[in-house]
Amino acid sequence: LLMAYDPARRLARLQVRVEAAATNARMLYEILDIEPLQRDTDGAKALEVTQARIEFRDLVFAYGNGRRVLDAVSFVAEGGMTTALVGPSGAGKSTILNLIPRFYDPEQGAILIDGQDIAKVTKSSLRRHIAYVSQQPHLFEGTIRDNIRYGRPDATDAEVEEAAKMAYAHDFIVAQPQGYDTAVGENGVTLSGGQRQRLSIARALVRNAPILLLDEATSALDTESEAFVQKALDTAMTGRTVIVIAHRLSTVVNADKIVVMQDGRIAEEGTHESLMGRENGLYARLNNLQTVRADI
Ligand code: ADP
Ligand code: MG
Repeated sequence: LLMAYDPARRLARLQVRVEAAATNARMLYEILDIEPLQRDTDGAKALEVTQARIEFRDLVFAYGNGRRVLDAVSFVAEGGMTTALVGPSGAGKSTILNLIPRFYDPEQGAILIDGQDIAKVTKSSLRRHIAYVSQQPHLFEGTIRDNIRYGRPDATDAEVEEAAKMAYAHDFIVAQPQGYDTAVGENGVTLSGGQRQRLSIARALVRNAPILLLDEATSALDTESEAFVQKALDTAMTGRTVIVIAHRLSTVVNADKIVVMQDGRIAEEGTHESLMGRENGLYARLNNLQTVRADI
């Protein structure tokens, strides 16, 4: 029985599954700490984060087939601010998020965090500073507590519960048959979409990383869930550098900066007001079509 709850065993099993999924699962930042050993460049140093300012400098990127997916992409995500990425499906938004934890490296250009080229720091130190909340949160087989703890395997029970409270998840968790020890995943209880998202947010919060990458859900939750998820996200975003692939108009409007992408390039950037004020600007046109909320 003890072995069954041995976290190292659980993590080892998880790692196998993650490796199996790695070719098509794109963004499993949630489990970054337990990835197989990373190869670092010689002389790589630990990343030191102060402001968590992220600079994207002239990025050029192609996946295996050689077609350019990012072409001369430059922008800055200021420390502690929220930067929203918007633009048509296929524009390259998710690819940008993929480059930050170095799931892929750019062909040209660089990403700098507080002035340090991420290609020259250790991957473990880079990823320790990043949390990710995906559109479709993945729940692993195990208990609710385990699922939150994947954010930081050495988190105490108290830290797990604190994160769950901040993510507005504690109340529904304690209402489950075994509370935090309730099994989820294939053989466990079924949670609603909003509940799964709040667990995923709790997982990001327990990680307590200064950089939060967020892929907003496109599918509508019921109104109550939506309100809780939004409150949980607001908590998670506070005081962090956030880059969000934004689908909700409210997220876009409230962002400190909006980066509008099209065909692997940045079409324009600015605040909602400044972009709306551009005659014939892409953002203004999309907004007038009221499609900016969808993955246009
Ligand atoms: P967005 O998030 O803006 O919808 P993506 O960054 O997901 O755009 O995709 C940009 C382009 O890269 C698209 O043409 C997409 O088909 C392609 N692409 C995305 N992921 C892969 C991949 N793993 N392999 C090859 N092409 C990919
Ligand atoms: Mg995408």
